[in-house]
Amino acid sequence: MKADRIKNLPKYHFAEFNEILKRKRERGEEVINLGIGDPDIPTPDYIIQCLQKEAQNPINHKYPPYKGIKELRESISNWFKNRFEVTLDYEKEILPLIGTKEGLAHISWALIDPGDMALVANPCYPVHRTGVMLAGGSVYDLPLLGKNDFLIDFDEIQPEAAKKAKMMFICYPNNPTSATANEDFFKKAIEFAKHYDLIICHDNAYSEISYGDYRPISILEIDRKKEVSIEFHSLSKTFSMAGWRIGFVVGNSDVIDSLYTLKTNIDSGIPGAIQKAAVVALDGIDEFTKNACKIYEKRIGMVINTLKECKIEAKKPKATLYIWAKVPEGYSSDSFTMKLLDKTGVFVTPGTAFGKYGEGYIRISITQPDNLIKKAMIKFKEFIKKY
Ligand SMILES: *Cc1c(COP(=O)(O)O)cnc(C)c1O
Repeated sequence: MKADRIKNLPKYHFAEFNEILKRKRERGEEVINLGIGDPDIPTPDYIIQCLQKEAQNPINHKYPPYKGIKELRESISNWFKNRFEVTLDYEKEILPLIGTKEGLAHISWALIDPGDMALVANPCYPVHRTGVMLAGGSVYDLPLLGKNDFLIDFDEIQPEAAKKAKMMFICYPNNPTSATANEDFFKKAIEFAKHYDLIICHDNAYSEISYGDYRPISILEIDRKKEVSIEFHSLSKTFSMAGWRIGFVVGNSDVIDSLYTLKTNIDSGIPGAIQKAAVVALDGIDEFTKNACKIYEKRIGMVINTLKECKIEAKKPKATLYIWAKVPEGYSSDSFTMKLLDKTGVFVTPGTAFGKYGEGYIRISITQPDNLIKKAMIKFKEFIKKY
């Protein structure tokens, strides 16, 4: 039995890909998965030790507070001040989440009524779109095109759609295209949102995963009064904590309050011991993340060099865990991905898994150990030579 809202959902491609890879492995074939962005570097020890200790504290065996523990909201507020020079009220402008994906899915339920419209980038992190659909809203695509450096072109948005829209999802540094946005872009986004009276949900999951001198910014550095913006952060990529399920949202207090009200009716918060571990993570942020980024940067170099040798077009990312590359002439995203997997066991994500404007591209993730990436790149090169 299936409700229409489930029947009408597009497949969650990553669940489907995992099944295909599992079947291949069961047949004894080697698979190197450069599909999903799931950090391979282990969570730092000091965070794990905190979790072990806190697991034994009976206070963490009880229901956690709905708003998250105060220490965590204070740590988030301190980190935000140090990192972005933005002041947050830890009572009203911060809400911890059971992973950012949870918050991204639920925010649409907090802002959208059936029939309402939301502006969503295409390609995008799939939950931006499906969250809107589950809430009964309709999605207006904002195409991310190579000719615009994968930035949203606000002049191309139809005014009728913008007038109907209640919210807009943006994500820079961007997953999947790895594009980054500067202050001017965020200024334009905020002006647009104010003009059409809509809320910007900025997904900043990669704010700490950047390379060279580049440092991603927060939309709240521009929308300092938090008039139209909320911003989602994740500990998954920053601290290699994808399996721990914790993230947070900050910004406009009315919107945060709506999401809080919704969530009090759905969940009972994040396990207390995990919240304590998140405090320790945020308070000691610099060393681990800096080193992780050095490792990622080296891997990006390996992939970019291979693509160059194969004459495949791709920009070197300034942030994120992904290389967004054009598929060679004669292939679609799907046909290239499936043939590559079939012939080499190397899996990359077809751009179309993120939306129809991802056609013509693949996303290569660098969250595998160096030796596997190296091996995958050798196989990739051979594949391009042969086919
Ligand atoms: C990984 C990712 C998330 C999910 O973060 P979780 O905290 O693990 O749920 C959200 N948004 C983007 C763009 C991501 O790439």
